[in-house]
Amino acid sequence: MIYLDHNATTPIAPPVLEAMLPFLREQYGNASSRHDLGTVARRAVEQAREQVAAAVGVQPGQVVFTSGGTEANNLIVKGAAATRPPAQIVVSGIEHPCVLEPALQLRRQGWTVAEVGVDAEGVVRADTLAAALRVPTGIVSVMLANNETGAIQPVAALAEHARGAKAVMHTDAVQAFGKIPVRFADLNVQAMSLSSHKVYGPKGAGALIVDKRLDLQPLLAGGGHERGMRSGTENVAAIVGFGAAAELAMLVLDAERERLAPLQARLEAGLSQRGGRIFGAGAPRLANTTYFAFPDVEGETLVIQLDGAGFATASGAACSSHHSGPSRVLLAMGVEAALAGRAVRISLGRANDAAQIDTFLAALDEVLGRLQRLAAIAA
Ligand code: PLP
Repeated sequence: MIYLDHNATTPIAPPVLEAMLPFLREQYGNASSRHDLGTVARRAVEQAREQVAAAVGVQPGQVVFTSGGTEANNLIVKGAAATRPPAQIVVSGIEHPCVLEPALQLRRQGWTVAEVGVDAEGVVRADTLAAALRVPTGIVSVMLANNETGAIQPVAALAEHARGAKAVMHTDAVQAFGKIPVRFADLNVQAMSLSSHKVYGPKGAGALIVDKRLDLQPLLAGGGHERGMRSGTENVAAIVGFGAAAELAMLVLDAERERLAPLQARLEAGLSQRGGRIFGAGAPRLANTTYFAFPDVEGETLVIQLDGAGFATASGAACSSHHSGPSRVLLAMGVEAALAGRAVRISLGRANDAAQIDTFLAALDEVLGRLQRLAAIAA
């Protein structure tokens, strides 16, 4: 099988697994315990905190470990709302459900939700956000890179407007981290979400990076772990893996971007030659992500056929949760519903190479040919 779905998740990098193994075997201490085993676990968690902090240019004390991107996004949305009087929360129309859903839940506490649109390339424009901010706003959340299109958002410019409106500015950097340089200070945000399993670390670990002055109510109350921001015995092995993965991601970032850009170009040239339409092609984009559709082929059908041919890809509908129907992201970009339902995503990663792109395109020819023959028989 050739894996082309790295925005869904990535395999654990071998050095990351090696770093984790002792904490799944003999180093099983509770990081809060005072004995030796506890101290070893505590040191490992703090080393991971330093590694994650260094990867995004913050102090270790700004890293709150969570169970992943979903929890980090819930923590900022609900946690910031709980310490402020109800107002408007502004999210972009292309946010992951784990930002959008907690925002919608805030309506029960008297908040209103504004979803700001994107342009035809899938990018939030600063003037669109500025218009939404005419209403008193407590929180703004716009992702750094979109999981479906890979479109990179002008977060620093958007943050300028949010700060002008005295709103807390958050960015979900889950898909950007490890694929483009992500510096917390440069983004001008007060909080930022990260996830381990998108950067060749284990599932079930992530972080909310916070400005220390940010007033936030924790989601989980209890023993006061993570400086009171996230109670619960630390998942030491997963946190260690996240730290190692973050460090490794920074080491290979530039080389991977340079290596992936021509692969993306090769793939997209091949798709275009076959009549495929590439979404968000005009936006600044992640070098690993290609989102496309063939006008006559259902996205799900293509993904299933490609799976049968040995290629793991994703259909637009499956890019997030179990929501089916046309991609919300493409609809927000103004793509017509029929074409949006045909979207397929390929997201490349460390193990992919040019030969695999060529093999994929050859397999695609076979699949498209077969589907055309079937359609001709059915007609
Ligand atoms: N945010 C974005 C943009 C994502 O793509 C994902 C995962 O698909 C998440 C958040 C959720 O992260 P996690 O799987 O760690 O909960």
